[in-house]
Amino acid sequence: MEKILIVDDSVVQAVQLKAILEDTYDVTIAQTAEDGLRRASGESYALILLDVVMPGMDGFTLLKKLQEEIITQSVPVILITSLSDVEHEQQGLVLGAVDYITKPFRAPIVKARVDAHIKLYQYRRQVEQQSMTDQLTGIANRRGHDSESTARWKEAVRLRIPFSVCMFDIDHFKAYNDTFGHPAGDRVIAAIAKTAASYLQRNTDFFARYGGEEFVALTVGERSEKVMEHLKKIRQAIENLHIPHDPSVSEWVTVSIGGVTVIPPAKGSYAFCLKLADTMLYEAKKQGRNRVIWLDEQKQQLWEKP
Ligand code: GH3
Ligand code: MG
Ligand code: MG
Repeated sequence: MEKILIVDDSVVQAVQLKAILEDTYDVTIAQTAEDGLRRASGESYALILLDVVMPGMDGFTLLKKLQEEIITQSVPVILITSLSDVEHEQQGLVLGAVDYITKPFRAPIVKARVDAHIKLYQYRRQVEQQSMTDQLTGIANRRGHDSESTARWKEAVRLRIPFSVCMFDIDHFKAYNDTFGHPAGDRVIAAIAKTAASYLQRNTDFFARYGGEEFVALTVGERSEKVMEHLKKIRQAIENLHIPHDPSVSEWVTVSIGGVTVIPPAKGSYAFCLKLADTMLYEAKKQGRNRVIWLDEQKQQLWEKP
């Protein structure tokens, strides 16, 4: 059930609206703009119904605030106005409201308008989701990575908790394609993504296909030894898939992994951490592949296979 937030100081009016919608939607009422803002920032609503005239912070001020916040700016807002408020309607639409409904309410009209906007919102969300998902593997793609990594880095900086980034790269993959063909190579990429993703399921984990045969994993809140142990397990699980490789390079398909853990606020940026992870990956390749190399919080290199 999609969630709808009604922000209205009039209890009678809010309850009336709720009654029209509650068979189809999960409806919450906030009686002040301040409470509305708090709820909208903490929950994900598919639509906000906002009364324009309220004591204290009015509907327009709240609408502006909702538009400024990343979490709430994509939630559609329908304004509630009285029939006589032509300027209000205009001002609201200019400010970014998607529609308005006028008092007194006519239930079928309210329901139809809300349904239409919820459908649009669902469609937009689906398109956004698809544009951030890799078709071959079903995990996040580069766009998904770019958006998610920035948000997670900011969060780690704010909470001052350890932040780990690592890069995976399939070993000798050009040789694999040359021997078994590109479509077989694609299946290997999908199998490796599936295995790694199954180990990175927690809310604090994120996993994406960064490019062709390269992946990025992010983890927050854990120290380097623990994260590296976990990545070693993933590396081993991929080797244990026992996907036959071109025998001239290796028995099974394997990956090399380079990672870094920092405690923010660290010098630099997310991009800098990713660069460090890439440098560790390069080290892993240089030292013989199929291994994990980590840079810990003290900038010491940890090697899986010394
Ligand atoms: P290394 O162990 O040093 O990583 O060797 P490598 O051969 O894997 O490295 P390189 O970067 O030279 O080659 C990567 C190869 O991955 C090149 C390309 O043929 C293959 N590749 C990249 N993207 C895809 C993809 O989407 N599908 C398939 N099948 N192959 C891909
Ligand atoms: Mg590569
Ligand atoms: Mg490679």
